[in-house]
Amino acid sequence: MLSLYNTLTCQIEPFKPMGPKAKMYSCGPTVYGYAHIGNFRTFVSTDLLRRVIEVNGIPVTQVMNLTDVDDKTMKGANDRGMPLREYTDIYIEAFFEDLRTLKIEGVARFPRATDAIPSMIRMIEKLIDKGYAYQADDKSIYFRVHAFKEYGKLSHIDRQSLVAGASERVHQDEYTKDNLCDFALWKAYDQKTDGPIFWQSPFGPGRPGWHIECSAMAQDFLGPSIDIHCGGIDLVFPHHENEIAQSECCNHAPFATHWFHVEHLHVDGKKMSKSLGNFYTLRDLIEKGFSGREVRAFIAQSHYRMPLNFTLEGLKGVRQALFRVDQLWDRLELGADAGEENFNVDQIHASFMEALNHDLNFPKAFAVLFDMVRDVNKGLDQKKISKESQKRILELLERFDAILGCLKKEEEPIPGSILDLVEARQKARKERRFQDADKIRNEITLLGYELEDVTNGTKVKKSHPCNIQKSTAID
Ligand code: AMP
Ligand code: ZN
Repeated sequence: MLSLYNTLTCQIEPFKPMGPKAKMYSCGPTVYGYAHIGNFRTFVSTDLLRRVIEVNGIPVTQVMNLTDVDDKTMKGANDRGMPLREYTDIYIEAFFEDLRTLKIEGVARFPRATDAIPSMIRMIEKLIDKGYAYQADDKSIYFRVHAFKEYGKLSHIDRQSLVAGASERVHQDEYTKDNLCDFALWKAYDQKTDGPIFWQSPFGPGRPGWHIECSAMAQDFLGPSIDIHCGGIDLVFPHHENEIAQSECCNHAPFATHWFHVEHLHVDGKKMSKSLGNFYTLRDLIEKGFSGREVRAFIAQSHYRMPLNFTLEGLKGVRQALFRVDQLWDRLELGADAGEENFNVDQIHASFMEALNHDLNFPKAFAVLFDMVRDVNKGLDQKKISKESQKRILELLERFDAILGCLKKEEEPIPGSILDLVEARQKARKERRFQDADKIRNEITLLGYELEDVTNGTKVKKSHPCNIQKSTAID
């Protein structure tokens, strides 16, 4: 059975959904630029979580919102003189492309905040009716934090000290809010900053606050109570605390049973973020020659509750590790010399699952995998492993890959220019121009491909990066 750390209770607890399907809500990206790989640490970890829940026999309905209206998206659109939707469309399309590159799958719905504004308005009206929200002099609507007795239960802050501390810091009547901690549910229209972007509402023109967006979309697509809510650790306070306050005051039902938070991707000990400028987008890394598979594996091999430091060297290390898996996979597929001994596949599978089911211990699961890679290679060298075991090891690799999503090599198409060279070499060989054939082979090697002459022709494949460097150095 799967157990997970729950931010709400500060404990590792069995994950037991309320119904036959687990309802999972993930806070998605703010679509004002390309997401960086820090953002993708959270999204890959959430994808791994979903896969582990499903492998435990529990189907998941996952919803991930797209924040397509907030200060940043509005500023971006207005600076470029574009309609908000047209502007955010660009980054939503890019985000979906990046998800495909990283094999982040299985999200049932990606609601856009701007499509859910009527539900947000309905929630705000309910909160006003129940006395949890009020309209201030600036015409914005605020949530009254001190009215919700359980405020602070997720981030474990003391509500009283929060309310009192905030009031001490700034003189109260400099603000239109009743209390400095109160947060906006609806932001009144301000032509200077908002330009042409606003929605009509019973409270006047304006736009929703960020927190109400998630409460409304979670409710629209999953209902008032969900099993698990996910996001990066920076969202615990105030975003998720505020989501709880809004949803629970509106529905008088627990909002989420389980809270899953992913630690940050760091660069030199600091959070990777757009504001610090210390970030790489996935596209930056692809341009540097890395693959989505390598980035996914880099993220997957860490523990989601530990900070992960990003370096290009670390990513290269992952590439080497994956190459060892590729080699083993190829060896097994080719059918290496078999022996008599059986390999304990069931034990390895059990250890792998045990690691994942204990709060997603992916570092341990990867250790189980790499121990197996080492032992199987040794067994194959010694021609010890039985044909049946070899088949079962291959099946096990497939099962591991169904969770990790980064074990199986993606077959890249061979470029036409390389295929032309292969054909030219074949022709030279047929015509017994062996010197020419060797020259072409050399050229192919320098371009990063390897040839293998087999009985009915020539096989061509991409060389390992280390071999490419060697060939280039000789040149
Ligand atoms: P945003 O696009 O800023 O709304 O963030 C999308 C998601 O990425 C949120 O769940 C954030 O908590 C998460 N996030 C942002 N920066 C990082 C980081 N450096 N490491 C891990 N997650 C992050
Ligand atoms: Zn959210």
